[in-house]
Amino acid sequence: MKEIKKENLMEKIVSLCKRRGFVFPGSEIYGGLQGFYDFGPLGVEMKNNLKQLWWNWMTREHEDIVGIDGAIITNPKVWEASGHLKSFVDPLVECKKCHHRFKADDISAECPDCGGEITEPKMFNILVPTQLGVVEGEKQNAYLRGEACQTIYLDYKNVLDTTRLKIPFGICQIGKAFRNEVTPGNFLLRQREFEQWDLQWFCHPKEMEKWFEYWKNERMAWYKSIFANPENLGFYKHEKLAHYAKKAFDIEYTASPAVKEMEGIHWRGDWDLSRHAEFSGQDLSYVDLETGEKFIPNIVETSGGVDRTFLFLLLDAYCEEKDRVVLKLYPKIAPYKVAVFPLLANKPELAKLARSIYDNLKINFMTAWDDRGNIGKRYYAQDEIGTPFCVTVDFESLEDKKVTIRERDSMKQERIAIDELAEYIKKQLE
Ligand code: ATP
Repeated sequence: MKEIKKENLMEKIVSLCKRRGFVFPGSEIYGGLQGFYDFGPLGVEMKNNLKQLWWNWMTREHEDIVGIDGAIITNPKVWEASGHLKSFVDPLVECKKCHHRFKADDISAECPDCGGEITEPKMFNILVPTQLGVVEGEKQNAYLRGEACQTIYLDYKNVLDTTRLKIPFGICQIGKAFRNEVTPGNFLLRQREFEQWDLQWFCHPKEMEKWFEYWKNERMAWYKSIFANPENLGFYKHEKLAHYAKKAFDIEYTASPAVKEMEGIHWRGDWDLSRHAEFSGQDLSYVDLETGEKFIPNIVETSGGVDRTFLFLLLDAYCEEKDRVVLKLYPKIAPYKVAVFPLLANKPELAKLARSIYDNLKINFMTAWDDRGNIGKRYYAQDEIGTPFCVTVDFESLEDKKVTIRERDSMKQERIAIDELAEYIKKQLE
């Protein structure tokens, strides 16, 4: 396997994403818009697979977790209560010579571009404002949510009232967040519009320590189960903590050429519910029906980035081998599960049989069809997008009703009965 330089790896992934339809620059025909991207035909499949995996793990494997899908725009008071209007700020400095702006904590004394003198830091709020209403002068100011989790706190009482959950329990959500990042860049790693997956775990204050450790380990185990090289994942312990937090850890993709944080495991205590209780005037305490104890639940948060995970998975899966580029993606995440080829496109009997296999498989699996070029080129095209299995229909297939199935990573080929194909692929994917 060729050693790929880290700085070149990002360029290769950006180019592969564009070339094969994973990710396109946003508004490209107008020259783009910094920090915005669109997911193409393969990207949306892969992202949906990833989100589905997370969602099923959260809500099906944990009977004490339910999901919600909250609104992107909330009453603006939410952002006062959450502290974002005051503290969701980044100190920014500007180079007096080239007028480039940098985050103050990204730069030491000198300006990296031209060596010019830099200004004193100014504070910038990174919430994205918007306006509601149609009449000029009467429009109401609001914000696109800066983090997805706030709607979970707002709906915590509604969830309790409409389910049979008791503490400890969790509410999870996957949703968009928007930030006026000072330095959007590094492809999907720092965007202005991105997606987060969050779990807010509500527990008794005395059990915070236990649940914090539990979720820290659970989340790491989950990420390790989907990465080709789990040794590239690690914890980063935060030393500077919010006043309400006792601990904070990031799960990092340590081999990333740029930003490393993928998910934060946060000790939020009773901060969020106490603040929303104070600002809304509503009682958000929990009553234990067995003991009669009344308290504000404490919260462990696991807040991860879908887009960062998506990109880290691609960086991690990318391999250049002797005659091919291969994405060694976890099969459940790969956009296509299987590709079907007739050995020769101009032989109607082969095409007919291959087509019937394709029609049968596509009901259960995302299935690709390819009858262009030769088999070698078709394998190359599927390896490059991470398709775990390729099925070829040849002349023998017409006689023995078997096909050749080739596995992506080992390139091992097997003959398998057409009748058993769907079951075989299903088993392999599990
Ligand atoms: P960073 O310090 O890298 O800006 P953060 O600590 O502000 O991240 P959180 O507010 O904890 O991030 O958000 C949770 C997750 O959302 C992060 O772990 C990351 O995966 C993702 N995320 C945050 N900001 C962005 C962004 N601008 N673009 C893409 N993903 C992001």
